[in-house]
Amino acid sequence: MDFGLTDEQLLFADSVRRFALDQLQEGALERAHSNEFPWTIARLLSEQGLMGITISEPDGGLGGTLIDAVLAIEQVALVCPKSADILQAGNFGPIRTFAEYGSPQLKAKWLPDVLGGRKLISLGMSEPDAGSAVTDLRTTAREDADGYVVNGQKVFGTHSRDAAIFLVYVRFGPGIDGIGSILVERDTPGFTVGQPAAFMSDEEWCPLFFENCRVSKTNLILGPGGFKRQIAAFNAERIGNAARSLAVGRHAYNLARQYAIDRQQFGRPLCEFQGLQWKFADMAVKLEAGQLLLYRAAVGADKGLPSAFDTTVAKLACNQAGFEVANESVQIMGGTGYSKESLAEYCMRRTRGWMIAGGTIEMMKNRLAEHIFDRRFSQRAPSKGRQ
Ligand SMILES: Cc1cc2nc3c(=O)[nH]c(=O)nc-3n(C[C@H](O)[C@H](O)[C@H](O)COP(=O)(O)OP(=O)(O)OC[C@H]3O[C@@H](n4cnc5c(N)ncnc54)[C@H](O)[C@@H]3O)c2cc1C
Repeated sequence: MDFGLTDEQLLFADSVRRFALDQLQEGALERAHSNEFPWTIARLLSEQGLMGITISEPDGGLGGTLIDAVLAIEQVALVCPKSADILQAGNFGPIRTFAEYGSPQLKAKWLPDVLGGRKLISLGMSEPDAGSAVTDLRTTAREDADGYVVNGQKVFGTHSRDAAIFLVYVRFGPGIDGIGSILVERDTPGFTVGQPAAFMSDEEWCPLFFENCRVSKTNLILGPGGFKRQIAAFNAERIGNAARSLAVGRHAYNLARQYAIDRQQFGRPLCEFQGLQWKFADMAVKLEAGQLLLYRAAVGADKGLPSAFDTTVAKLACNQAGFEVANESVQIMGGTGYSKESLAEYCMRRTRGWMIAGGTIEMMKNRLAEHIFDRRFSQRAPSKGRQ
């Protein structure tokens, strides 16, 4: 296996890094502590050609590869972690499912604004009673002559406070085969975006309520039987999640490294204490290992969607590495690391969330066990059976 990046890819990564240092470094701390979506930066990133990297050219994207998008999000996160959220929204998140399966008319209506950094799309998958057990979702879409009548509730959606459109997983009928998705526009009658709540990272999310919400037939993304294709596209989201975990962990590591060079205690720099040197050695190994697994998953996907196995391994490794490294970086930086004067504590809080978002650490391990033993392990109580 060859994970070497091509000269072209290295040049691209370097150009994004230089752009980020020039345009995003200043204000990175303030951006991290503001819970406003950075619209100005979103438009700047779009003008820089960093949105829609993997979206096809006819759809308004750049027709690039997943590894290009990974390189871009990494370089931005290494300079301004908050700005990397914009690249997630414009390259990896529900936009990818939408671009893959939405109708040409629907894409023409929404993609220019989303790729232009003027509008956001949010994913409505999780429900109060369907988190890891996502196929237990109860939000229904009943088809009638005029379209779909949607009823149910969603929680935890990233960008749900600000999004103009919502890619909503719905149930058209019973069982996994009854699941598909529709696009709900924010001003649709019967659809309410509830009061914001905050994650540990200070990102806000809003509960979504659907009460006899009428959605046009033209807003169908995937009909009944679409669940597996949805999850296949969701693997692209997981790669973005893994890339940010690792890069934000590395961001904290870089801060801690510099701190260990500059800070003196007992009359010598921290980096001369073996107890801290070994922490750095362990952190470096975690970051390097995660990096290889991430690149393997992204390179393997080329212009398509990443494989489930590669994605699962990469997400698990990068989520763990990112959080453990950020957490250890805070420790190395002492009171400064724990203070909001430094981005280290933000990196720790952010990386913690990705161990839950997009499939928890435990669910990734369940998926891996199925690959390892080449059989399915139902997580359901035997008496209930599969829905
Ligand atoms: C930062 C962040 C962003 C998010 N963004 C979105 C979004 O944009 N859209 C969206 O729809 N959702 C989003 N989510 C929700 C996320 O997808 C869910 O939180 C996640 O799937 C877990 O569901 P849950 O919180 O209901 O936990 P639960 O499923 O209730 O799990 C609770 C605990 O039990 C463990 N567990 C559950 N089942 C098993 C099992 N079979 N074996 C072992 N352990 C198990 C879990 O791993 C977890 O530790 C986001 C969450 C976070 C934290």
